This record gives sequence, structure tokens and C-alpha cells, in this order.
Amino acid sequence: MQDHLYTIPVTEIFEQTGGCPICRLRDTLEKRVCDYTLGPAMMEPDVRQNTNRMGFCAVHLEQLRQGKNRLGLGLLLDTHLKELRKNLASGGLMDSPKKAAYKAARAEQSCFVCDRVEQGMRQLLSAMLKSYDTEPDFRQMFKAQQALCLPDYRLLLEQAAQQLPRSGRRNF
Ligand SMILES: [Zn+2]
Ligand SMILES: [Zn+2]
Repeated sequence: MQDHLYTIPVTEIFEQTGGCPICRLRDTLEKRVCDYTLGPAMMEPDVRQNTNRMGFCAVHLEQLRQGKNRLGLGLLLDTHLKELRKNLASGGLMDSPKKAAYKAARAEQSCFVCDRVEQGMRQLLSAMLKSYDTEPDFRQMFKAQQALCLPDYRLLLEQAAQQLPRSGRRNF
């Protein structure tokens, strides 16, 4: 779905230096997903089903609130809260406190924006590693970066271990 969301030109991100390039990539994607959520997505019934079901984490709710479409956000939250109330109450008094707490924890952890960003990052990192493996120019750009943050260093190594051929893994 919405594949255009994830077509960020990775080389443009790597043309800049300073800080962690993967964080820059994620920031760009996050902003795109937020704009999309309060833009075209509002008119797509299947996407609305997802925002109603998943809601938003505190970080992204704040990011959406800072955006330009507060009326849109109000509408999204209205239908999301209706669905959330229904889900939390679905077992009624028959739910044990433990089960009710479990449902609440799941609701707390789900976020439409986090989910889309994670999905997009997987695709973008995969494209990035492919460029690293096959394009000497991109490899130079990668080497010119000053730093990687620790979580993204780990993320890259995990993806490289899965994706790159043996020789590529060693180079990387
Ligand atoms: Zn980072
Ligand atoms: Zn989130």
C-alpha cells in the first residue's frame, strides 16, 4: 500500500553529513507518514480502518497535533476512540483484571505511524544495502558519514546479516 511513501531517495540523505544518516532517513519518513495520515489517508477507507484500530503513540500524537490539520486529527481520534472503547469493553465484566490489563497494554503499544515507519525503514534499508553492495559511488558516500547511532548501527548489521551475500557482508 501507499508505496510512494517509501520512495525516499536514499542517496540525497547520504549527500549530507553530520549526525546519523539513518536517523535523518527515519525523520524524513516519519514526517511523510504524518503528512500522509492527515492528508490523503483520511479519504481511504482501508487506511481509516487501520488508524481506527491502531491509534497513535504519545510521540506521534504530539507530532500530528503540531501539524496543520487539527480538524482531521479530531475526526481520526473520534472514530479511533469509539473503536478503542468498544474493544476495551468487549469482554465486559467477564474479563479478569489481568486480561483487561493485557488489552490495554496492546492498545497502548499500537501506533499507525510507528507501524508504517517500521515497514518503510525495512524497505529503505534494504535498498540502501543493495546500493552499498553494488555501487562504488554510494559506498564512498556511506564511508564519508561521520557517525551512526548505536541503535541504527545494530539495525544495519542485523539487516546486512540477513540480506547481503557472504562477500558483501565482509566488506560491509
Ligand atoms: Zn541513528
Ligand atoms: Zn508512533
